[in-house]
Amino acid sequence: MDRQALYRIIPKVDRLLDNETVAALTEKYGARAVTEVIREETERLRDLIRDAADDKEAEQQAEQQVRRLPEKIEEEVHKLFTPKIRKVINATGTILHTNLGRAPLSEEQARKIAETASCYSSLEYDLETGERGDRCASAEALFCRLTGAEAAMAVNNNAAALLLILNTLAKGGDVIVSRGELVEIGGKFRIPDVMEQSGARLAEVGTTNKTRLQDYEQAVTGETRAVLKVHTSNYRIVGFTESVPAETLKEFTASAGLPLIWDLGSGVIIDPECYGLAHEPTVREAVSAADVICFSGDKLFGGPQAGIILGRRELIGKMKKNPLSRALRPDKFVIAALELVLMDYLDVAHTAEKIPVIRMISESEKSVRARAEILCAMILERAPEARVTVEPSHAQAGGGALPGEEIPSAAVVIRPGKLSAAGLTYAMRHMRIPVVARTSEDAVWLDVRTIDQEDFGLLAEMLGEVLA
Ligand SMILES: *Cc1c(COP(=O)(O)O)cnc(C)c1O
Repeated sequence: MDRQALYRIIPKVDRLLDNETVAALTEKYGARAVTEVIREETERLRDLIRDAADDKEAEQQAEQQVRRLPEKIEEEVHKLFTPKIRKVINATGTILHTNLGRAPLSEEQARKIAETASCYSSLEYDLETGERGDRCASAEALFCRLTGAEAAMAVNNNAAALLLILNTLAKGGDVIVSRGELVEIGGKFRIPDVMEQSGARLAEVGTTNKTRLQDYEQAVTGETRAVLKVHTSNYRIVGFTESVPAETLKEFTASAGLPLIWDLGSGVIIDPECYGLAHEPTVREAVSAADVICFSGDKLFGGPQAGIILGRRELIGKMKKNPLSRALRPDKFVIAALELVLMDYLDVAHTAEKIPVIRMISESEKSVRARAEILCAMILERAPEARVTVEPSHAQAGGGALPGEEIPSAAVVIRPGKLSAAGLTYAMRHMRIPVVARTSEDAVWLDVRTIDQEDFGLLAEMLGEVLA
C-alpha cells in the first residue's frame, strides 16, 4: 500500500467515538477532552506513516497502531485525568527532599486545612466586629509568642522574604555581605541575583574563607543601607576559616545605625543539639541577635511553603506597606497550615509527635532500627525467598539544612535476585504508591527514618508482589 492509501485506514474521529472503549471514556470524561485526544493520536499516526523509512515499514506500523488505537486513546485519556502530583513513599532518608515536596504536614493538620478549603472561611473577616480582618494576624501573633519577636510577617517563600526585606530597606543603596556567604540554594536562588532584583547593590567584603569585623567596618559608606548575614545552609567551609558572629555584627551595626538582616535559611524552633545533632542558631536566638530575620516555612520548621519574616516592629511595618507585599502574600491554605503548625509548637510536650519533620529528625537510632526490623519481617512474610536485611544507614536533614550532618539511621536493604538494583527501583517507582529509594552496591536501601509506620503494611504488600 502506498502512503496515501495508508492515511485512509486511520479511522475518522466519529467512528472512533462510536468504539465501545472510547464511548465509555466519553461517558466518564466528556466528549471534548476525548475528541482532543483522538485528534492528537490520529495526528501522531499520520506523522508515523509519513516518517517511516519505506512503504513496507509504514504499512506494518500503521496496521499495528490502528488496531491498538482505542486502547492507546484510553491510556492517554486516563493519563490526562490522573494528577501528576500524588503521594509517594520517601525511603531516601532525606527528611526535607525538595523534589518530594519538602516538609509533609501531619494527617491532623491536613484534615483541618481540608475542612476550611472546601468552604468559606473567616480568612479576612473579623467575627468579633463583623469587619474586614487581617489574613495573617493570628499566625503572626503566634510567631511572636513562640520566638519573642516584636513583629512578624508571612510571604510566599523565603526567597520572596529576602526580596521584600532588601527592596524595603535597601533599594537604591548598598548592602554589605561576606564573600563566604554569597550562597546559591539551588533552582534560581542566588544571593547576588536576589539582591539585584530587589534594587539593592551588593557590597562584598572579606574572602571566601575569612571575613573579619574590620572588613565590615571598612566597607561602610554613605550609600550603605544594611548588613546581611546569610546562613550557609547547604555547604560548609572547613579548615582555615573565620566569620563574624551575629552578636558581634549587631554591636557594630547598632553603632553604625544600620539594620542587621539575617537569612537563616532553615530556621529551627528547637535546637537540633537536643537530638544529638550539631547546634544551629534557633529562631529565638536569631531574633534577639538581628533586627530582621527570615527563614523558610517548609524546611526544618516543618510547615507549608512560606517565607517567615520576624523582627523589629518599625521595620516590618515598612515591609507591610511595600506594594510588593501584595504580590508575595501567602494563600489561605498556607495561612491555615501555619496557624496549625504554630499551635503544635506551643504544645511543647507533644511537638515531636505532632509535627512530622520534628518526629523524623528526633527519632532515636534505636527506635528507627526497631521499626526497620518490623518492616523487614513484614516484607519477608510476603516474599520469604527475598534477600532482605536490616543495616545501619545515614539519614540527612536535606533541603539546605544541617549540611554535612549525618543522622544515624537504619535501612531495610534489598538485594534483588534476577532484577538489578536499577530494575527494582524502576519497579518501585511504578508501584500503586510510588516508592523512591537509594541504591548502593547493587542493593536497594530503604531508609526507615523517613517512612511513616502507617505505610508499612502497604509497602510490604507492594514489595511482596514485586519480589515474590
Ligand atoms: C532555602 C533557602 C532559601 C530559599 O528559601 P525558599 O523557601 O526555598 O524560597 C533562602 N536562603 C537560604 C539561606 C536558604 O537556605
